[in-house]
Amino acid sequence: MSLYVPESAVNYEAVFRRGGRNMGDEDFALFKCPNCGHVYLMDYEVDTVFLDGDDLSKRDDLFDESHPFVCSSCEQPMPNGVWVGPHAEERFQVTWLELKASRWSWVATPMRSFGDETQPLHRAD
Ligand SMILES: [Zn+2]
Repeated sequence: MSLYVPESAVNYEAVFRRGGRNMGDEDFALFKCPNCGHVYLMDYEVDTVFLDGDDLSKRDDLFDESHPFVCSSCEQPMPNGVWVGPHAEERFQVTWLELKASRWSWVATPMRSFGDETQPLHRAD
């Protein structure tokens, strides 16, 4: 059972409609700040992080020792590690509940054919 939002669930058309197009070979993935849980969308084809689900013009580029990625919510530097992709560390992965509570709730919808992924959205809090 997958609590986490898979990359394949990201709605590219919705991102593009909101101005998220980059170089034409986008690979989107979600990750979160392990410190405060703030959710980000990354286009890891060009190493760009979208900072705000309400305004896709707010971006930051990755990132090296002189320019670490600092969480815009808690202002802590993002720890080194695997943020996105098939080997993403669990602490960076975004659950459906976290996504729903974030400004990125529009970016992905559970695929009904993968029944397990719909369940967290329907669980009563
Ligand atoms: Zn944070």
